[in-house]
Amino acid sequence: MPYEYDSQNIFARILRGEIPCARVHETEHSLAFKDINPQAPTHVLVIPKGAYVNYDHFSAEASDAEIVDFTRAVGKVAAMLGHAQIAGGEGYRILSNAGPDAHQEVPHLHVHIFGGKFLGRMIK
Ligand code: 5GP
Repeated sequence: MPYEYDSQNIFARILRGEIPCARVHETEHSLAFKDINPQAPTHVLVIPKGAYVNYDHFSAEASDAEIVDFTRAVGKVAAMLGHAQIAGGEGYRILSNAGPDAHQEVPHLHVHIFGGKFLGRMIK
């Protein structure tokens, strides 16, 4: 299946430095920054620097180095933010929306990390 990437999406513009972001963590292939409209006391987005629309695109076409880097970056940010002494809560939730049914707003792969409060059960 071909994946069409829109290089004018907002996260591509953040990666190019055209729009500012509140950076939390950066690696060779990944960037983490605070969500502009937080849904929890901790709400960080982690994105790969490569041009991938969603998780299945990324897993099919990214290099092993990108996949390892991104996976580690997500884990690192979760560990940094998900612990009680830092975020005011215990634990975190990782979520990635893909496509219209999941209400994906920005067509560049992003993983949400929520925490800092009791999050309750998963949204159905
Ligand atoms: P989605 O619905 O695609 O999973 O989530 C997109 C997220 O990106 C939303 O939570 C939204 O608040 C966030 N967002 C949209 N535009 C910007 C922006 O310019 N900067 C930052 N930091 N977050 C953004």
